[in-house]
Formats: sequence, structure tokens, C-alpha cells
Amino acid sequence: MRNFTYLVPRSLNEAISMHESRRGRAKYIAGGTDVLVKIKEGKLAPDGLISLRHIIGQDRPFLNAETGELYIGAFMTHRSIERSPLIQHRYPILHDAVKNIGSVQIRNVATIGGNLVNAVPSADGAIPLIALDGKAHIYGAKGDRLIDLTRFFLGPGQCDLQGAEILTEIIIPPIAPRTGGAYVKHGRREAMELPMLGVGVLLSLEADMATCTKARICLGVAAPTPFRAREAEAYLTGRPVTEETLAEAGRIAAGESRVRDSIRGVAWYRREMVGVLVKRMGILALERAKR
Ligand SMILES: Cc1cc2nc3c(=O)[nH]c(=O)nc-3n(C[C@H](O)[C@H](O)[C@H](O)COP(=O)(O)OP(=O)(O)OC[C@H]3O[C@@H](n4cnc5c(N)ncnc54)[C@H](O)[C@@H]3O)c2cc1C
Repeated sequence: MRNFTYLVPRSLNEAISMHESRRGRAKYIAGGTDVLVKIKEGKLAPDGLISLRHIIGQDRPFLNAETGELYIGAFMTHRSIERSPLIQHRYPILHDAVKNIGSVQIRNVATIGGNLVNAVPSADGAIPLIALDGKAHIYGAKGDRLIDLTRFFLGPGQCDLQGAEILTEIIIPPIAPRTGGAYVKHGRREAMELPMLGVGVLLSLEADMATCTKARICLGVAAPTPFRAREAEAYLTGRPVTEETLAEAGRIAAGESRVRDSIRGVAWYRREMVGVLVKRMGILALERAKR
């Protein structure tokens, strides 16, 4: 392993100027659970690691009571999100996802921002945040910008961050009443494994508690980037949510997926499981919306 300098900025601006002065030869590090693995494997050889851990930011999710928006700091660990009563009760789809990332030791240091910026198709944190219509708040030398998470992922390992930009938070718009969501990480085992498939379903209902007013069906490891199965969402919208309509939405989503064979699973099985899990998560989302 090549020697590198470890830098500890105290502000976003200091981090950005450290990054810029090293002209692409430095890397940000948050929890280090992805970046250090890559350095050890020889896939990365930065001459500097710029820690984001000492920059003051939110240490718990914050709900703005006036606007209904939820703010999740990018430097927040999966564990702090998992343990938040607000996330457990109001955003169970996100809780489903973060509680199964790695192990407690990994979740104690790994951050939600690192999970998104790493941009692997199997990033568990991405699916629920896309389903919740999350936006990425990005800060750079030229100021800040906000982009939809659906446009944040550009390809495996690639996201829409330029130069020294830092992902600072994820903003979730207010959720409609009678909304429920659920996420499942599907793999051979639950702990310490990247998912073979990640499926998140979020449903909002009419006052009749049956008709779907809004559907989000988001898939991980089913294409080069996390994505929304928009045809399946359009099919459900305006229809009663039943086992039959959810099964049909699952079939449509399976058709939209671009699964492939990999070490963790073969394409035909993955496609089949998209259908099964969309229906299963839809049933759970419906139950939660009714609660
Ligand atoms: C044993 C093990 C098990 C794992 N299990 C899972 C799992 O089940 N599910 C899953 O999704 N992932 C899993 N991972 C992957 C990893 O833990 C997560 O992706 C984690 O959230 C990464 O966060 P981090 O803070 O450690 O990122 P780091 O390794 O610190 O950084 C990752 C990348 O993001 C950049 N970066 C980090 N934060 C920012 C920011 N705010 N702005 C700009 N750039 C930034 C870094 O420069 C780097 O390129 C696992 C990893 C290990 C080692």
C-alpha cells in the first residue's frame, strides 16, 4: 500500500480547498468502509485522504415541522439513522434498508453519504431514498446545488459529483398521509452480504384506503444504477391495491429490469424475484399505509 497523508479539515470550505490543491490526487473519506477496502485492494492509490468526519453536521435526522421536509446529513452513520425513532416510525422503508447494511460495526462508522457516492448498483441506502423522492444537496467551490437522486447515479461507481464537490445532505419532501413503504435486501443471507437484489415499494392511498394515488417501485442490482420501474408505477396509480394488481406491477417491473448474471445470482432468477418481491413489499407497504 502506498503512503498517504491524512488530512482533517474542520469545515466544508477547508475540505474543498484541500481537495482542489491536490488536483485530483486526494480522496475524501467518511467511514472508510469502501475507500479503505479499495486502497488495500490496490484499486485506489490517493496521495491524500481528506476526512469528512470532523466537519460539524447533523448527527440525527431532522424533520422540519413547518415544511414537513426531512433532512438527513450525508455524514450520518447508518447506525444513527437506524436508531432514530423518527426514521423507525415515519420512514420504515429507510429503516428496513439501513438496519441490514453490513454489521453493527460497519454501520457504526459507514455513512449514508459514502453509500450514495460510492454508487454501486447494490447500495442499500439508495433505493429507499429514491422511493421517497429524495434530493441530493451538493456543495462545491462554486456554491451549492440540489439534484434529484434519480439523476445522481450515472453508472456503476459513478455519480454526479464534480471535482471537489461534497454531498452534504439528502432532503426528503413531505410524505402524503396514508403512505407506507417497505424495502427488502434479497441475498443468500441477510448479514454481511451485498444484496443480489434490492426492492423498495412506496404507496400512497386515497381516503378509501384502497386506491393508489402514488406508487414508487425502486430496484437495486437490477440495472447498472438504482432505478424506478416507472411503467409498473404508472400501472398501479389510480388502481386499487390488491394482491392481483401488485402481482401485475411486479411482472411489469421485472420486464423493465435489466438484470444480468453475476457472482451473486443469475439473471433469470433475479428477474423472477423482482416480480415476487415487488408484490411482497407492496403488501407490506399497503399494511403500513393502513396503519
Ligand atoms: C464488510 C462490509 C459490508 C458491507 N455491507 C454493505 C451492505 O450490506 N449494503 C451496502 O449498501 N453497502 C455495504 N458495504 C459498503 C459500505 O459499507 C457502504 O457503502 C458505506 O455506506 C460507505 O460509507 P463510508 O462512509 O464508509 O464511505 P467511504 O468509504 O468513506 O467513502 C466512499 C466513497 O464516497 C466518497 N465520499 C464519502 N462521503 C462523501 C461525501 N459526503 N461527499 C463526497 N464524497 C464522499 C469517498 O471519497 C469514497 O469515494 C459494506 C462494506 C463492508 C466493508
